[in-house]
Amino acid sequence: MRRGTNLPRVGGYNRAVIMEAIRCGDGVSRADVASRTGLTPQTVSTVVRALLADGLVVETGSLPSNGGRSGTALSLNAGSRYAVGVHLDPGSTVAVLVDLAGRIVAQERDRLPVPQPPDTFAERLAGTVDRLVTAAGVARDRLLGVGLAVPGPIDPERQLVVFPPNLAGWSEVPLPTVLGEKTGLPVVMDNDATAAAIGERWVGGPHRVGSLLFVYLGTGIGAGIALGDGIQHGDSGNAGEIGHLVVVPDGNPCRCGARGCLEAHCAPPAVVAGHVRRHGPEEAARLGLSLAPADTFTDYGRICEAAAGGDPASRATVAELAELCAQAVRGAVNLLDVSTVVLGGPALPAVERALRTAITRQVNELTLAHAVRRVAVEPSLIGTDAGAIGAASLVLHGRFSPGWSMLVGHPS
Ligand SMILES: [Zn+2]
Repeated sequence: MRRGTNLPRVGGYNRAVIMEAIRCGDGVSRADVASRTGLTPQTVSTVVRALLADGLVVETGSLPSNGGRSGTALSLNAGSRYAVGVHLDPGSTVAVLVDLAGRIVAQERDRLPVPQPPDTFAERLAGTVDRLVTAAGVARDRLLGVGLAVPGPIDPERQLVVFPPNLAGWSEVPLPTVLGEKTGLPVVMDNDATAAAIGERWVGGPHRVGSLLFVYLGTGIGAGIALGDGIQHGDSGNAGEIGHLVVVPDGNPCRCGARGCLEAHCAPPAVVAGHVRRHGPEEAARLGLSLAPADTFTDYGRICEAAAGGDPASRATVAELAELCAQAVRGAVNLLDVSTVVLGGPALPAVERALRTAITRQVNELTLAHAVRRVAVEPSLIGTDAGAIGAASLVLHGRFSPGWSMLVGHPS
């Protein structure tokens, strides 16, 4: 648990530290908060009073006496604030409205069949934000902002989406700024896998404290990295590109310019193409694959379904996918020494069992430190919409999680 500080100019920081202690220890007393954060009971009491007055925290009953005075349980007031999260994935956008606890209260999916100019697209997204808020009956002044999760690469310094794959013709687009102008709301942006890791931590509370690697399987493959109390963005904001670790020397060409990357072998489009290449066009007919780009996820699902049903060719394809993913995750675990690997994203459910088995084996039998640690491999608590929930969590995390930038006077 993160500690408070007695340095000057820390009011906002201590408030965020206390919010985090209450969020991660749902139903904690003021005394518990003081001992977890290292802050004095007086400071905790003052800050909690302000949080109660703002409606961010509620008292949820009495706690049994623990030798001394019995305490009052404190919890986040989930319905007090909301955030919108939008995940831009090739071919579609998923938008969610979540409450302060990260729970979805309204949701919308939108297919984007034709390229659109940024302005038109931002206008459309602004309409989505309005509809979500109206559908949930949430007062506009309770909406903190909009988070965008986009496939990498991004330029967070200049808040640019760089070559978004679903928006042909865009090169470097300041989408957060344009959307901010259309909605009148603060807009933040991050890489989708990093956003998913932030969402997992936010929603998971006490179950997701400490270091973790979030492996996101969508149209591409990425990872979000949490080490200790912090999310690792990297110097350019593009840390965690696990999809571009080489798993097959001189393998398939990849969109990054290299060959043999994990994504070029194990992302759904590569899995479908590889399976058909290996077994010929009659295999596509046998499994009923359409091979149209718009149907990639359906085709991928058919192969995984056939594998689950015992079809030998499909089983071999899924087994190879699982072993190659495990190989990349093993490399990341060797490098980062995380104790938890979380798997999520829309391409996961079809292969979850095979993937968990292969990753659990490789990270616990074939890493150098396997004798001294056991790495847990678990499915995401935020499900297949991890990108969108993660996007919304960017807003909550930026507003309410303690960070060094707050301490030095630049609230994030
Ligand atoms: Zn690559």
